[in-house]
Amino acid sequence: MRLILLGPPGCGKGTQAQRLVGKHGIVQLSTGEMLRAAVKADTPVGRKAKDIITRGDLVPDDVVVAIISERLDQPDARRGFILDGFPRTLGQAEALDRILAAKGLRLDGAIELKVDEQALVERLESRIAEMAARGEPLRADDNPETMKTRLANYRAQTAPLIDYYRKKGLLKSVDGMAPVPEVTKAIDRALGPEIAARSG
Ligand code: ADP
Repeated sequence: MRLILLGPPGCGKGTQAQRLVGKHGIVQLSTGEMLRAAVKADTPVGRKAKDIITRGDLVPDDVVVAIISERLDQPDARRGFILDGFPRTLGQAEALDRILAAKGLRLDGAIELKVDEQALVERLESRIAEMAARGEPLRADDNPETMKTRLANYRAQTAPLIDYYRKKGLLKSVDGMAPVPEVTKAIDRALGPEIAARSG
């Protein structure tokens, strides 16, 4: 099963991706996580991405497309994957189409998590408070100011992908405001048994 998760920052993409991974035996490919790992390891990509991520802006398409293209060639992605945070621009979506076509693969669905913006700000505030309480380091971009930039970038660059996938007949919209397990159930219902059974 090959899926995309779409939705604004803080909508719960990462949480749902992890649950789908456990349920369906596919891998979660999060460009945000990959970029944060590159920053931590101080690789050339990490050095390029660090300030951009901290500002809440988008890393250039060619950088993330190269990361994803390479990652999709790893053996563990053969059984299926869930893309979390990619594609984020029309250019990335078109590049993904080309990459998959070249590998003879196709997407099974693009899941949109619908949430209201006020909830996103509240979720971010509670995520910051919980991480601070656990003594975990905060993400450099998890603060209310950067969140505004991330949301603005989402609206301008990523939200148009909802129509892109709707036109391809791949879009499945789910209410992301429901409790976490309910959202997972709604995703499973939206995919239907036929897609959920697909492997490889
Ligand atoms: P969130 O969805 O909560 O904003 P992510 O972990 O997905 O968090 O992304 C964090 C940051 O990493 C983004 O704000 C952006 O700077 C960068 N990033 C992640 N994925 C992409 C992508 N596909 N294209 C460009 N930049 C990306």
